[in-house]
Amino acid sequence: MRVEVDLDAAIANWRTFAALSSAEAAAVVKADGYGLGAAPLARAFRAAGATTFFVATPAEGAALRAALDAEATICVLGGYRAEDLAMVRDARLRPVLNGLDQAQAWIAAGRPGDGCVVHVDTGMNRLGAPLADIGALAALDLRPALVMSHLACGGDPGAALNGVQRRRFLEAALAFPGARRSLSASGGAFLGPDYAFDLVRPGVGLYGGAPLDAGGGPPLRAVARVTAPVLQIRTIEAGATVGYGATFTAPHPMQVATLGAGYADGLLRSLSGRGYAVLAGARRPMLGRVSMDLITVDATGLAVAPGDEADLIGPGLGVDEVAAAAGTLAYEVLTSLRGAARTYKGGAA
Ligand SMILES: *Cc1c(COP(=O)(O)O)cnc(C)c1O
Repeated sequence: MRVEVDLDAAIANWRTFAALSSAEAAAVVKADGYGLGAAPLARAFRAAGATTFFVATPAEGAALRAALDAEATICVLGGYRAEDLAMVRDARLRPVLNGLDQAQAWIAAGRPGDGCVVHVDTGMNRLGAPLADIGALAALDLRPALVMSHLACGGDPGAALNGVQRRRFLEAALAFPGARRSLSASGGAFLGPDYAFDLVRPGVGLYGGAPLDAGGGPPLRAVARVTAPVLQIRTIEAGATVGYGATFTAPHPMQVATLGAGYADGLLRSLSGRGYAVLAGARRPMLGRVSMDLITVDATGLAVAPGDEADLIGPGLGVDEVAAAAGTLAYEVLTSLRGAARTYKGGAA
């Protein structure tokens, strides 16, 4: 199995976010660029004009610094812990301080890195400082470059919680008058100018995943194409079964194509009996279970031969469709591909 990453498509998606409002568009490249390779993608966004990047951990930040220039801003969403000191300092990372304890630890360590971000929790109840601690945080000498929060339902324009979080964010941000403000990820960026503030933080939309739960919004381009070679073709009789557990029984004589892709490559096993492949231009169902390195696909009536390539994600089989078949989200489909072999095309060198 092979993942082909279209850097030009990713750049076009970043430009779509940048053009939505007057806010700066950052690029979220955590989890190795949503499974598609943080370094080449970040370099592509950087060349297109991105200056601010978000990762989850200091280790991701240090790796990203090595891939980018010294001027890029690299924010670490996971927070600041004393053990992060050397990495934050040496790679000039900007920790996102998620509470009083982290803020105090960061000051005690001598404000290492490239300034800080203050994250206030306005209703997600995951990361971020509780609103009750804002006064105490503001009393510290933090001078944050950015104050941010995160929407729980940014992908749902009808969610009442969006407006509640926005009002709480506006009030909390008053405590940090010099700081720029950021509230929205991919979904929130489509909620309109009231949600843009100074900086938006798109992730999944950059990689071609739908930002809104119900779809719609400005079109984004597919970034990942996943292909697998046909390893073997066989003809089976009516009544024969396919794969582990014999979960598929042929209702009539069939031609079955065995492809070189499986859950060890990051193809979700929950696609068993539910997923599709595009083979010789035709969309065909997977038959039986996904194995470690193999899947079996209905190739009846198709002119296919060993060595042909099939698409598992690609034109005519979008990442959100694959996610729906697997019972999950584009986020998980993409990040599951982290271990697969990758190639890149496009991108201003
Ligand atoms: C992951 C993340 C993002 C990006 O979210 P998408 O939905 O992928 O756009 C932005 N902000 C925070 C705090 C995040 O954790």
